[in-house]
Amino acid sequence: MTSQRTRDRLITRLQEQGIDNEQVLDVIRRVPRHLFVDEALAHRAYEDTALPIGYGQTISQPYIVAQMTQLLLQDGMPNSVLEIGTGCGYQTAVLANIFPQIYSVERIEALYLLAKKRLAELELYNVQLRYTDGIEGWPNPSYRFDRIIMTAACSEIPEALVGQLNEGGIMVLPIDNGIDQTMTRITRGREGLISESLEKVVFVPLLPGLN
Ligand code: SAH
Repeated sequence: MTSQRTRDRLITRLQEQGIDNEQVLDVIRRVPRHLFVDEALAHRAYEDTALPIGYGQTISQPYIVAQMTQLLLQDGMPNSVLEIGTGCGYQTAVLANIFPQIYSVERIEALYLLAKKRLAELELYNVQLRYTDGIEGWPNPSYRFDRIIMTAACSEIPEALVGQLNEGGIMVLPIDNGIDQTMTRITRGREGLISESLEKVVFVPLLPGLN
């Protein structure tokens, strides 16, 4: 169920859908997704599908994790990545296997604690997690990031996040227009923000406050 053959099948499926970054494919092949879901769902961990992780939240579909990670890698290897919405920590683990420094925030304490435990078990020491509302950005306001990835949908990009993105930095997030959601890439140029709409997606909403 969680065998190498099952994982290889997932990689083939991702390639068929246009994921072509070898580093991303290699990391997805290696990171044990079955350790990030409930044991009862572990046999489905290498299907290309979102799965429930409790508290009304979901672990993102592997294709989406791969696609967002690939988007963060365009324009070279950044140093620091801020993730809004740690959830079960799977996307965080994928990022931590590629980028030097990962910062990730989660507003549901139980998920934050579980993710912290799992990431420590995988010995991913280049990750810093915080239990906080990501709408306010990373809790230390003087921090700046080369990339920001948001794994929950919002109608407007939180101001604090724009402020924490380095010039030349890239933010990848789902934007909800009230009808549907679009994966969007925002680049912070010298003249301001450049926004590109990519594909239609389905994410849980970005919610304010702590839980
Ligand atoms: N990458 C995660 C996705 C989880 S779903 C995974 O694959 O498991 C999105 C996550 O964003 C949820 O855990 C949800 O609680 C979190 N979230 C929503 N609004 C948030 C906010 N304002 N600040 C931080 N996290 C938030």
